[in-house]
Amino acid sequence: MANAKSAAVSNVGKIRANNQDSGYAGRHLFVVADGMGGHAGGDVASAIAVQRIAETDREYPSAQDAEFALQSAIIAANQLLAETVFEHQELGGMGTTVSALLRVGREVAIAHIGDSRIYLFREGELSQITNDHTFVQRLVDSGRITAEEAAVHPRRSVLMRVLGDVDAAPEIDTDIFGTVPGDRWLICSDGLSSYVSDDRIARVLESTPDAAEASDLLVKESLDNGAPDNVTVVVVNVDESDDSATDPPVTVGSAATPLTFEGDHGRRPLRLPTLLLHPLKAAQPDSHFEPESDEYLDELIAEDRRRALRRRITWLVGIALVLAGVALAVTFFIQWTQTRFYVGEHDGHVAIFQGVQQGIGPIPLSSVYEETEIDVDDLSTFSRERIEATINADDLADARAIVERLADVAG
Ligand code: CA
Repeated sequence: MANAKSAAVSNVGKIRANNQDSGYAGRHLFVVADGMGGHAGGDVASAIAVQRIAETDREYPSAQDAEFALQSAIIAANQLLAETVFEHQELGGMGTTVSALLRVGREVAIAHIGDSRIYLFREGELSQITNDHTFVQRLVDSGRITAEEAAVHPRRSVLMRVLGDVDAAPEIDTDIFGTVPGDRWLICSDGLSSYVSDDRIARVLESTPDAAEASDLLVKESLDNGAPDNVTVVVVNVDESDDSATDPPVTVGSAATPLTFEGDHGRRPLRLPTLLLHPLKAAQPDSHFEPESDEYLDELIAEDRRRALRRRITWLVGIALVLAGVALAVTFFIQWTQTRFYVGEHDGHVAIFQGVQQGIGPIPLSSVYEETEIDVDDLSTFSRERIEATINADDLADARAIVERLADVAG
């Protein structure tokens, strides 16, 4: 598509078996949802959320109205997920992130929960607009770890907030921003943001004005970096017109396929329940959870410390084993050298040495075993030179035979 104003692209990635991400690019609305957990329910969760939120793709009198519509749709999607789990217990624990943007002329309303991201690219600068609702982001915000530590933290994918069947009133971030022609909005799942640096994302947006080409390139960057996760990218260009229409709207990822779920008798179509308003039951959280208290956070931090300590101990034991191995090898080598004999000169006399001529650095590996009465000066020049250069023996008996031959020559 030439000169695309907006685009949505989703790819399963190189490791995952199915795509649990969903994306949408319409007339005014743009969404990314990253599903997770449950019994193969992640794809269902993101699809339900995106399909429900897509109903808000309309014109609004004001950005405040759009913001309210988004928030209401996300709450409704949360309720729909809970109802679906009530009807299909196998899907218990499924959840999804949602990052959505509704454009109203020179303003955008955004709504966000989870760790998908919305970025604004303006005048060559990329800014992350949303905050990740992750465990590590909370640790960073409270000053307990640095952003650098967060990037490699073992719990960096643990979410604090998602849509699902856990919380009847999930906390959703909403906001309104001004937008001007030339702005480019990027919505993506962590399949992009965790594997492609902000610098790299900015360079792709800088060099690729077309929204469809930029989306394709960003997904390609993630695939080139191995793309272990599903990756979904929505790019929205703001120009002089009032909308960033993709006509007809594009749905990608799991929301683009018929809703099915893995039941007791294989995959079957999922029928969405009409809202019945069941109370939310306490589900077993899968890859997301709601922390009950600060003590729980402290407990998690303590557990991370214990893990770090265990890693350090494992490492030290490894080093100790390597050193013990080296010491054992050296011991065996020294023992072996003491089975070797050679004939040489000591204090002007022919002597039998036990060990080998070479040493380890300054440490000699041989000593005089027997000194004989044979004066080196009584030997022929040829024999003397051979003794000074030392003569290897097969064993002690051989060394003694060599000495006897020399005694005969010396007379
Ligand atoms: Ca993901």
